[in-house]
Amino acid sequence: MAEEIKVHSEEALTEEEIFNQDAPRKKLKVTNAFQQLMNPNKPKPKQQQKPERSTGGNPFKNRMGLGAYLDDPASFPASIVIAHDNEFVVIHDKFPKATVHTLILPRSSKCNLKHPFDAFDDPELLVKVKVQVEKVKSLVAAELQRKLGTYSEAERDRQAVLDGKVDLKPGQDLPKGRDWAKEIKVGVHAVPSMTHLHVHILSRDMHSESLKHRKHYNSFVTEFLVDIDDFPLPKDDPRRRTKEEGYLARDLCCWRCGKNFGAQFKQLKEHLDGEFDKWKRE
Ligand code: AMP
Repeated sequence: MAEEIKVHSEEALTEEEIFNQDAPRKKLKVTNAFQQLMNPNKPKPKQQQKPERSTGGNPFKNRMGLGAYLDDPASFPASIVIAHDNEFVVIHDKFPKATVHTLILPRSSKCNLKHPFDAFDDPELLVKVKVQVEKVKSLVAAELQRKLGTYSEAERDRQAVLDGKVDLKPGQDLPKGRDWAKEIKVGVHAVPSMTHLHVHILSRDMHSESLKHRKHYNSFVTEFLVDIDDFPLPKDDPRRRTKEEGYLARDLCCWRCGKNFGAQFKQLKEHLDGEFDKWKRE
């Protein structure tokens, strides 16, 4: 008998996401920072391949959607697969929970079906992942600057030079602008929903239409998101006991001002709109 698909309280995906593994994705209309930096001359993909259609009855298969990117990354357009080599594939999250949300997928079959806590006990893999994280962080920072730079107070002097409104004095460098890397979080979920090993790299604004559930929010603002710098994780680390810690069921607290919304997700979402506006103007 086919096993029923269950979405457990200790994981961050909703049924909608599990069942929509074959939903079509929008192609980006404009060239983004990822495309400019990583794939300036990338040839057009032969055809767009989508993750395998869900069977509806096989819970394992429904959580295997990330595997399609590992099998044939070159068959995806740059609006889905940002970069790939023999060891990693970097993609845009299909249900982004923030303005920019990417995933790094290690390709080696030695590790790619392991739980991250076990996989990152391997020091060799961890070093490689951290190197990859730094590269992708720069890309995410560049994409944030491209998307939000015009709103940011910290970008004003730089933008004035770029717009030709202010001239640099001889020997003067282009002002650096905002440190967008500080606005980025990197980690893994203590209980991943998708089977293939993946690391989240996302902006910290939590401003997205795909953020639809309390557990989506809490999975990125509580310690359920285990920072990549905390690996290898000590054996007695409380984040290994997610059930006891109950991260996903905690009160909803604004990541920026700390205001507590209890279980009121709609009110939190409205508040996050205002906070996003203030954050992007910093
Ligand atoms: P988690 O397993 O909780 O660490 O999160 C899995 C992530 O994968 C979520 O952020 C989902 O939005 C994302 N996701 C799920 N299916 C796909 C897919 N087919 N392609 C790209 N991203 C996906």
